[in-house]
Amino acid sequence: MNSMQVIIDPFSGPCPGVQRALRMVERELDDYGHAVALGQVIHNAVEINRLQAKGLVTVDQADAPSPIGDTVREQRVFVRSHGISDVYRRSLQKNHVTLVDGTCPTVAAIQKKIRRYDAEGFQILIVGKKGHPEVVGLAGCGGREAMVLQDEADVEQLDANGSYYLAAQTTISPEVFSRIIELVKERVKDVVIDDTTCRHVTRRHEKIRNFARQVDVLLLVGGKNSSNTAVLYRVAHAVNPQTIWIESVSELSPEMFSAASIIGITGSASTPMGQLEDVKKVVETNMTIEQEK
Ligand code: SF4
Repeated sequence: MNSMQVIIDPFSGPCPGVQRALRMVERELDDYGHAVALGQVIHNAVEINRLQAKGLVTVDQADAPSPIGDTVREQRVFVRSHGISDVYRRSLQKNHVTLVDGTCPTVAAIQKKIRRYDAEGFQILIVGKKGHPEVVGLAGCGGREAMVLQDEADVEQLDANGSYYLAAQTTISPEVFSRIIELVKERVKDVVIDDTTCRHVTRRHEKIRNFARQVDVLLLVGGKNSSNTAVLYRVAHAVNPQTIWIESVSELSPEMFSAASIIGITGSASTPMGQLEDVKKVVETNMTIEQEK
């Protein structure tokens, strides 16, 4: 008989920006007994439920500025790691909102560069997913709205004689970024290309690839609304087709592991280590099928 081995990816756990945001929210909850956040602090339903039980209220970031609802007006309001646009920030401040700014320092640095290049007259380009909160925030920094390049059709809209500064959504995959910048370089001459993808995220790609190769089945734990989890899923699945993306332990079933000797558990930039430990416990206690050698 041969029993399964269950291992947690040693390089998993939330990224520094999300860890920082969570620490700030926990401090708000400890100090005030409640906290209002603009949009989900972390793309992870289990963690959101835990914070809600401690007093966290999440308001829709898109709806808050116009008109400013009573939940937000004159309140302390938490800005998550994705950051917000300058227009939005001013609108909140005009309504006497005290911002508790959890914008990831990496994102804040990109926003600063965008303002500088915008002031110098460059049209700002963001390679990223349209509507993603970080992209919306980046696109709204500086005086003029940035253009978001999600695919080839967007690149075709560029004026060949324009002057551009191009940055990236921090969690965009390196492959997508490379493909878009090649197209941009073919189309325009005057473009400053700034690879602003998050180093933490890009390093994770190589690490998750290595981990995925070492296991028979890989469980990737992360929110179904998390861009970062979606990218990590594609990266891991490309080297190990037995990669399964789950949001919670309720999605597990013994059949997933019927042919597995080594099961790996990993998470995205928004998956706390505690959740990976919980998944490990459930797999070890409820999912293990003794296998014939
Ligand atoms: S992925 Fe990178 S840029 Fe985004 S919040 Fe985490 S550390 Fe910051």
